[in-house]
This record gives sequence, C-alpha cells and structure tokens, in this order.
Amino acid sequence: MVGSLKIINVRIFDVFSGQFSELGALEIKHGIFSAFKNNQAQSKSQQDILDGQGGYLIPGLIDCHCHILGTFANPEDTKFHLWLIKQVRNNLRVMLLAGVTAIRDMLAPINLINSYRRKIYKSKVIGPRIFTAGPMFSVENGYPYFLPSQPWVVNKAIGQLRWELKSESDIPRAVLYLKKKGVNHIKIYRLHQQLTEEAKPVSEIPLPWLLKICDAAHAMDLPVACHHSFVKGFREILELPIDTLEHLAVDGIYSDQDVQLFKAKNIYLIPTIKVMYDAAVEDPRQEPFFGEWLKSPAARQAFEPVPRRILLDLVADRWNPKYQTIVSKNIAQHGYKISFDNFRKMHQAGVKMAMGTDSGVNVCFFPHAPRELEHMVRFGMSPAEALRTGTINGAEVIGLSDRLGSITPGKWADCVLLRDNPLENITRIYDIQYVIKNGIVYDPVVELQRDVTLKMSGLVR
Ligand SMILES: [Zn+2]
Repeated sequence: MVGSLKIINVRIFDVFSGQFSELGALEIKHGIFSAFKNNQAQSKSQQDILDGQGGYLIPGLIDCHCHILGTFANPEDTKFHLWLIKQVRNNLRVMLLAGVTAIRDMLAPINLINSYRRKIYKSKVIGPRIFTAGPMFSVENGYPYFLPSQPWVVNKAIGQLRWELKSESDIPRAVLYLKKKGVNHIKIYRLHQQLTEEAKPVSEIPLPWLLKICDAAHAMDLPVACHHSFVKGFREILELPIDTLEHLAVDGIYSDQDVQLFKAKNIYLIPTIKVMYDAAVEDPRQEPFFGEWLKSPAARQAFEPVPRRILLDLVADRWNPKYQTIVSKNIAQHGYKISFDNFRKMHQAGVKMAMGTDSGVNVCFFPHAPRELEHMVRFGMSPAEALRTGTINGAEVIGLSDRLGSITPGKWADCVLLRDNPLENITRIYDIQYVIKNGIVYDPVVELQRDVTLKMSGLVR
C-alpha cells in the first residue's frame, strides 16, 4: 500500500533528548508513523520492508525561509519567462531530494504555488509540503525593489510577487483575499536602509499599517513574518505583534538589551546565515558549491539552461555592480562577519530559532539548503540543536508541531535516512540514503544517479 512500510535496522533521532535510539524498526501506515519496535522484521510481505542498513533516521528537514520561484534576479532581464515556471519544478524536486520535506515560502505568486501544490498532491511533480506567504506586502517603490512588478496578464495568471497597498483601508480585504487563496502566513518588511549603496531610497510601509496587517492576519489565524535585517529600527520591530523575525542584522551588533527584549517576546528568529555567506564569498569560482559545481551534472539537473547561464556569468564576474542588486559586496561581507556575533548573542540568550536558507536568492541554491545547519554549528550550536532548529522548531513555526518535526507515532511520516551519524559531524546530513515524505520513499540515487547525488551533496566517498 502506498505510504505504508517498515524500515528495519535504523536508529531514530529523538529531537527532544537530542540522541539516537538503538537499532530498531519503524512502522509507517498510510503515511503516518505508527510504531517503533525492536528490530525483528516480521512482515507477511517482504515488499514493504526497507532495510536501513544501520543508518540514522532524522525527521524531514523544514526550511522556514525560501523562495521557490528563484532564481529570478537577472539584472538584465526582469521579465517573467516560462523557464521560471519550469525552474520551480526543479527547485521543488532537488529540495526534496536534499532532505527538505516541508518549506515555508516567503514570496511567491500564489496561483503558481497552488498549481504546484496540486501537482505534488497528484504525484505529477515531486517536492516538499508547501506553506506559503504568497505575495509579500509592500507599497509603491517599496521592498523588494529588485523585483519589478509584472504586466497584469502575468499577475492574473500566476499571481503577483508583491502586493502594493495603496491605503490603510486596503488591508483587511487584501488579507482576506490571501487567506481565501490558501496562504499560510503573511510577510511584511520593515527597513530603514538598503542592502546596496547605489539603489534608490525604498519606501516603507507606515507603522500603523503594519500594526493593522498584524491584527487582520491574526484575526484570520495567519501568523506574521517580518523581514528586517538591521539593528537600526530593531526596537520598532519589537513593538509589532509579529510571529517571526526573518534574518539577522547586517549593520551592527545587537545590544544586550535588544537581545533581552527580543528573548522576552518569545518569538522565533530565522537567522538565514547561509545566504550572507553565499553573498559574501570573495571568489565564488574557488568555492566547491559555486563555480565548478555549476558546471556539474548535478547543476544541470538543478537548473534550466537559462538560469544556469545567468548564474555562471554571475560567478565569473561576482563583484560587477550589475550583479549586486540585492546586496552589495561591502554590506554582504560585513554582514556575514558580524552575523557570527549576532547569532551567538541570540543563541546564548536562549532565543528560539528555526532553519531558513533563503534558497532561491541568486547566490543561494536549493540543493545546498541543509548547509544552513552546518553554518549554525560553525557559529556555536551543537549538531543536535542544529537538527532541532531544522525539524521540530520549523514545525512549531509553521504551527504544525503536532503533525511534523519529529518521528513520533501519529505524526506525518516525513523523514530522512542518513548513512552516518550527523551528531558526530553535521556534514553527514548531505549523505542521504532515502528521503521519505508522507510514507513514500524517494531514492536520490535513482532520481539523480549516484555520482550526481554525491557531487550534489559535496561529499565524495
Ligand atoms: Zn528571503
């Protein structure tokens, strides 16, 4: 039966204790974890048994901040092309095969997302469970300034990328429309400066409007995610009834008082470290996850020809100002350097965090999403804590911790079988034997060919 099987010879990661179990057998029935027992494989049919070969089973990863529509930022051509739609299919596929079984998208045309949700449901496309903000709220000349609005036909067909509010009275109707369209959260931004030196000033959404958006969203059971990556204006953010803060500050170090005030709010921080690293890399041609990788068979599977060519050009000429439309060199490099201190301060204060990769930004590729956890460990988290941010904490952010985020009987059967113990070395999360979503097994070797998978993961065994 689809979605029902028994995985024998596996150790299971308990997100609560931070440890792996002894070897045992996990039963999945109709896409739900049903029981974990001792290791006897007693089944009438051998077909529904999967031998885990002593491997390590972790809950499916949850990426709480990505842009499934990426890579979309081509500075020379900002029109919407059909290859973007095909690229979304690739993004969903490689994300799932990298072990990400659920995503929280932060800016996407809602009709397009809904059509992919249906395709995934009907198994026409493989991909993670999708939770989405749909379009981001903005105002005329607002953020994101690097994504110009598209002709109305495009907006009508796929949905718009950002929703430009004209007046405060637009807000309840806009939130209701998105709720009816099936969004899972609302995304707003607050920023007091830009991430590039040259760009035009960006208009803000007035603070009373932001308050009204939060109230309207909460009245419809929609949490609010706020993009803000500065120390400047941080206190204003703390006044807003938001549910998550997206990104760490790139303009300075949070004061101890800022950190304490944020901690007292008891909301989630999605630090998105990897994207700052990726944007700050001095010479991407030297980086294993950029230049050579983009020429690999794995990259050919991950990208349509046009975006791959754009990315190769970008890597070859990284610091050409035309490619610094989202974040400029100085801000990226300074931002990555200080994110270490900002992350450590927040972590040591006990601020709740979940994994967000910002995959889809044009320096940050979907197959490498789990690298966010590697950065968190590099910045001082234990591997067990990092795994928790990537699983149960993400489930809490999405509001589904009773269904996702741990391998617990009764929850949806999303998990990833690793060959080696990620608590000994977090990079072992790249060495995936199987990805299981809703009880259905995906073998990246079969899906992508073995050598391609290993190159994709960056591990050569
Ligand atoms: Zn983002």
